[in-house]
Amino acid sequence: MKDKEIQKSCIFCKIANGEIPVYQIYEDELVKAFLDVNPIAKGHTLVIPKKHYENIFETPDEVLERINIICKKLAIKIKNKLGATGINIINASGKDAQQTVFHLHYHIIPRNQNDNLDLWFHKKSKEEINLEEIKNKLLI
Ligand code: AMP
Ligand code: ZN
Repeated sequence: MKDKEIQKSCIFCKIANGEIPVYQIYEDELVKAFLDVNPIAKGHTLVIPKKHYENIFETPDEVLERINIICKKLAIKIKNKLGATGINIINASGKDAQQTVFHLHYHIIPRNQNDNLDLWFHKKSKEEINLEEIKNKLLI
């Protein structure tokens, strides 16, 4: 599919263009933020670039920078106004990372003690993953 066709069928492009109504809480020239329609918790928010980028790999640094700054502002607001005592900021990039909408977005998820949410996956032991080998591969 060509870029224009992808954007025509992309639900978050439609939201960015105002073609689909959302509970919007922030907008500037690069970014929009709105409530997730199927929230994990009260205040679960999505932050998206207005331009279509599929995932973190495709998104220019300046857009990622802005998204991070807005995530922080919204996290503070959610903490102060909704009484969250913790915040998770999550991005899924790629089908195998369980991304379902292929227009970059960050989830801001309010957390509280005893909220019965569990973010972390089952962890592997040192015997299963050689940290020295991985460190050498990833060193920048
Ligand atoms: P992900 O699984 O990380 O790709 O997240 C996609 C998110 O988009 C899900 O949490 C959906 O609930 C949310 N979502 C999909 N369509 C809409 C919509 N029209 N308005 C608000 N949130 C949406
Ligand atoms: Zn899009």
